[in-house]
Amino acid sequence: MADVEVQGGLGFASSRRTLLAAGAGLAGAAMLPRFAAAQPSKPAPSAPGAAKTLPAPGGAPAPKQGFHAFTIGSIQAMAIHDGASSFAPVHPMFAPEATVDELNAVLRDHFHPLDKAPIEFNVLALKMGAETILIDTGFGPGQDGVGKTADNLRAAGISPESVTGIVITHAHGDHFHGLLGANDSLTYPNAKVFVSRKEHDFWTGATPDLGETALDAKTKGAWIARGQAIFKKIQPNLQIVAPGDKLVSGLELIDTSGHTPGHTSVIVTSGSESVVVAGDIMHNRVAMLANPRWTFSLDVNKKDAVKSRIAMFERIASERLRVFAYHLPWPGLGNIRKQGAGFEWMIEPWAW
Ligand SMILES: [Zn+2]
Repeated sequence: MADVEVQGGLGFASSRRTLLAAGAGLAGAAMLPRFAAAQPSKPAPSAPGAAKTLPAPGGAPAPKQGFHAFTIGSIQAMAIHDGASSFAPVHPMFAPEATVDELNAVLRDHFHPLDKAPIEFNVLALKMGAETILIDTGFGPGQDGVGKTADNLRAAGISPESVTGIVITHAHGDHFHGLLGANDSLTYPNAKVFVSRKEHDFWTGATPDLGETALDAKTKGAWIARGQAIFKKIQPNLQIVAPGDKLVSGLELIDTSGHTPGHTSVIVTSGSESVVVAGDIMHNRVAMLANPRWTFSLDVNKKDAVKSRIAMFERIASERLRVFAYHLPWPGLGNIRKQGAGFEWMIEPWAW
């Protein structure tokens, strides 16, 4: 399955040939060496007695390439990597209601680092009939290590101009700001942008209150100002929606509010297969699953976030649904099962 990234519907995905062709001259050229550099290097075909070269240790593991194709029934799906980062220290960003020792005991039990919490940014692209739909957009330009969604879409053979619809789970920068590119131009000029009424009204209201979010006043102000500027810019393409709406056949919105007031998850269904596009009901593969009552310090309303998380986890576990998780290890696919008093992330094995 070494070619898994390029299988599964070549009309949507890229073939290896087209990827390489893109690398020869188009925007993909910048991507290929970068991802190639992250792979273990192979020794040159050996001259007798040549020293073997081992890959250099250290550094963050990066996806071999920034997209990963899979299917949901007859839907062609593509995980698109916006980038990766980490939080350090882990506490109190995660589980502020626990002690450091309590959190560390759980992290250690799951073989998770104690000194940092890696976080990924996994955008989903879907080919549904005539529609090409994104769920979230990443950061947009200007920050190290992230903001790669548009480039990785191109590398996967999907032009930003061909995107017809974008579902925004919530208007935090890592999901929403990628709607604008360099010079604040529209990255996806032909796409309708679907945002829940509650989320839209919260950010564009006279005095958005970021509530329990552990940010200083200046940062809260900057988040709100940027969010409002983007809502203004995308106004002509904006489509206000509500949980329960079916945007196109096979795509349904679910209220998972709490992390933000209008946070929305998505269920994608085709035939007998469904995938829950979770958004930010979890930001870590351990902390918020082992104890779903432990919160994340960027939640606007912790109580609601916990309620939404537990309800969604219960449904995912009992219906044995497949999950696409925005912030969990690339490419974000897995399942959730009950484990003790909490839950456990079962990462879906995959091949590079
Ligand atoms: Zn997020």
